[in-house]
Order: sequence, then C-alpha cells, then structure tokens
Amino acid sequence: MKPLQQLVRANIWYLKPYSSARDEYKGVDASVFLDANENPYNAPYNRYPDPLQRDLKEELAVIKQVLPSQIFLGNGSDEAIDLLFRIFCNPKEDNVVAIAPTYGMYKVCADINEVEYRSVLLDENFALNAEQLLNATDQHTKMIFLCTPNNPSGNDLDRDEIIKVINGFQGIVVIDEAYSDFSKQKPFRLDLMKYENIVVLNTFSKAWGCAGIRLGMAFAGSEIIDLFNKVKYPYNINLLTQHQAFDALKRRYDVDKWVGVLMYERNQLAASFKELPFCRKVYPTDANFFLVKVDDADVIYKYLVSCGIIVRNRSRVELCGNCLRITVGTTQENNQLLSALRSYKK
Ligand SMILES: *Cc1c(COP(=O)(O)O)cnc(C)c1O
Repeated sequence: MKPLQQLVRANIWYLKPYSSARDEYKGVDASVFLDANENPYNAPYNRYPDPLQRDLKEELAVIKQVLPSQIFLGNGSDEAIDLLFRIFCNPKEDNVVAIAPTYGMYKVCADINEVEYRSVLLDENFALNAEQLLNATDQHTKMIFLCTPNNPSGNDLDRDEIIKVINGFQGIVVIDEAYSDFSKQKPFRLDLMKYENIVVLNTFSKAWGCAGIRLGMAFAGSEIIDLFNKVKYPYNINLLTQHQAFDALKRRYDVDKWVGVLMYERNQLAASFKELPFCRKVYPTDANFFLVKVDDADVIYKYLVSCGIIVRNRSRVELCGNCLRITVGTTQENNQLLSALRSYKK
C-alpha cells in the first residue's frame, strides 16, 4: 500500500475538522451541561448524541471481533461509500475500479463526486478475475470496489481472487460484506490486521433487520477510521438510531435464528423456481436473495405487480438479461409468490 498521505486528498489530510461542544468536553463527572446551547427540557431528546458513538462501538467491537477504533458508523453504508470518495478521490483527476454488475451506489457516489468509474465485467457465472480488475487500474486509481456476496448476482466472490486484488493493488480495496451474515465464507472484517489497505462494509439493513434505522458500518485500520471521523457530519448517528442499535445488539440471537430460517426458505424457493416452465436458470446464491433468468422478465415483472407482488427487475443490468432478483420473504410471502407464478399463463 502507498503511504496513506499519498492516497488521501491533500485538503482532507490537512483539514482541521469541526470541533463540537461534545468533542471538547470529554470528562465523566460533569452533571451540568451549559456548553452546547441545548434546551434543558425535554430529556433525553434535548441532548446532542455522542458524536463518536463510543458506547455502541464498545459493544459492537465485541460482536464483530474488531477494535472500537477500527469502526466507523454511518447513516447506512451509503454514507461510508460517499465518504470514501470524498476522502480519497480528487474530482476530475482520480478514478476507481469496480466489478460489474454490482451494487449501484458505488457508481452514483462516483458520479456525484465527479470521479471516473471504471467497471470490469465479471464472467458469465459472475466470478471475479483479479488480473483483469488490476489491469484496469492506473496511477490515478485510488480505490477498488468489491462486493461479496455480490448484489445483484448473490454469489460469493472467490476468496483467493480477492486476496490477489488486495495484494496486487497499492490503493484502498473496499469489500462490501452487506450480506456476509448469510455466507459461509470467512469475512474479511476478521483480517483487518493482515491487510492494511482494506475497508470492509457491513450494515444493519439486511440480516439484522434494521433497514429503517439507517445504520451502516465500515471497518478499517484506525488511521483510515480517523479520516472518516474528520469528514463526517459531527452528529451523523442520531440518538434514536443509537438506542435502537443497542436493542438490536441485545437481540442478536434473533439474527442467527432469522438467518437460519431465511436460508432454509431460500433453498425451498429456489428449488420451486426451477420447476416453473418459464424459468431458464436460477443462479447460485450465498445471500438472502437470488437471481433468476426467465423467458421474459418484463412481462413476468408486470404480471407480479398486478398480483401485488414486487420483485426487482434487473433485466437491463449487464450480464443480467431477462433476470429478476427475488428477495426471500416469510414462508407465507414466498408461497404467495409461488402460487401467483404457478397460475401465470402466457
Ligand atoms: C443493501 C446493501 C447495502 C446496505 O446499504 P445501507 O445504506 O446500509 O442500507 C450495502 N451494500 C450492498 C451491496 C447492499 O446490497
């Protein structure tokens, strides 16, 4: 990896961040707070939340097996993705390389920040070729984006190929593990000490069942996390979200239970899809959704909408011609989907 200072934008490296009232006072004994122009009434919502979410990170660190100083919390992983561009990429000068097809937010954030986005197609089985990806980089490439299990294809990328990318690149490798709770692969989050140039993304939105509270995580070496903290809005995670996250951590055994049920349901549903007359292919998956190729995705999509069932039409995405992406629901929802599809007539 290049020295961090060479990768970070100069304006960010030298940025003097906003210092909030809560940053400047860090003691524990005080009980009278007259420093932040808050209203003394309407507790607990009258107080600004902890800008660094220290208590939450302490608990999360244990569960995720990382250090609190290796955690950034954002308004969804989407905040972390946007911050990565703002920290590392000079607009109109730097570029990033990503696999395709993949999660759409990487390109949207690149476009918003005026950063060139170079995509490299996966093969027809959505497998990663490290060499091809590395060949697309040049001296202005600051980041490579990988997503495993990948969205919308659902498959794990091969771990050895990912390691080739990490070892073969001088910049930052972002590994989006939004769906890793559903996968049997060892998460890269556990290898932070081994690979200094990775940033791993996780989210509360999928296995944790908390998409509504908007809480995403980035795990990286503490020097990189310090950069996130410099650039983020001071109070980016509100009090309500921090409270709900504590609740979610207390109920973490529910998450294991949900994952077990969803994996069973996914396998049942995928097997049933293979029996449908218009189904051409069900792609292998390591996530809580799967991609299915059908005779005419637009027609089936519209038919399902008319039945009040919404799936994701991915047929205009590269390598996904005539593909629908199906999220696994409850047993009842999955049965509703299947019975609608079984009574479909051309
Ligand atoms: C759903 C998803 C996320 C989650 O984004 P949040 O902003 O945390 O809700 C991140 N990455 C991928 C690949 C996803 O599919």
